[in-house]
Amino acid sequence: MTKRLAVLAVVLCIVLIITAGVILMKNDFLNKVPETETPEEVQPEPTMNPEDDAKFYNAESLLILANKKHKLPNQYEPADLTEPDVRIRLDGIRVREVMVNDLTAMFDAAEEEEIYLVLGSGYRSDEEQQSIYDEYVERLGQENADQISSKAGYSEHQTGLAIDIYNDDPTYDLSDEFVNTDAGKWLAEHAHEYGFILRYPQDAEEITGFAYEPWHYRYVGKEEAEKIHASGKCFEEYYGLKGGDYE
Ligand SMILES: [Zn+2]
Repeated sequence: MTKRLAVLAVVLCIVLIITAGVILMKNDFLNKVPETETPEEVQPEPTMNPEDDAKFYNAESLLILANKKHKLPNQYEPADLTEPDVRIRLDGIRVREVMVNDLTAMFDAAEEEEIYLVLGSGYRSDEEQQSIYDEYVERLGQENADQISSKAGYSEHQTGLAIDIYNDDPTYDLSDEFVNTDAGKWLAEHAHEYGFILRYPQDAEEITGFAYEPWHYRYVGKEEAEKIHASGKCFEEYYGLKGGDYE
């Protein structure tokens, strides 16, 4: 009897030890879960408020914000404007030198696939922008003009980093139908590889302040363009910047 009791006691002890061990291991495992399930990149980075970040407000920056909420300096003209050696619709189109290599490489790459991109517009001065805007207002009324054009100082074209791209058929110049042309499709697929983003995507009007423009691309450099493109967001949304209509 004593022997059976002793055996029972030993068995009980073993069961208790195993149970305690299992509980401890389980707790330990549970404690480790948050560490393993939260890799470093998921941790929110301590970011600066985009409103305070000079790279969006310095006119020379590749990430300068030009929209209806942020006006460029009066009479702003980039110092490095140049006429790129690519197919153009009209003489005298200038863009910032900083984008020229990538712009040329993009036009060349498209041409290798027998897609002939045409540069339709680049830098615009205050005066040029105002006269374009005034023309639209006269033709369409101010409300409609505001959806497709901007007042002087608020146009991204004045940064020298925005371009309008056409194809070899002028019928599609500044037309939504451009997106269905080979050139429009090619750009949508490849422009980011050369540092350009589609600046006014479809259904982003409330954020960008502009209607869909499948022909208007903005140079931000390859690294940022890849990230913005991959996010599927528009410029303002990706960086958390203010957009939409005039104040
Ligand atoms: Zn444009």
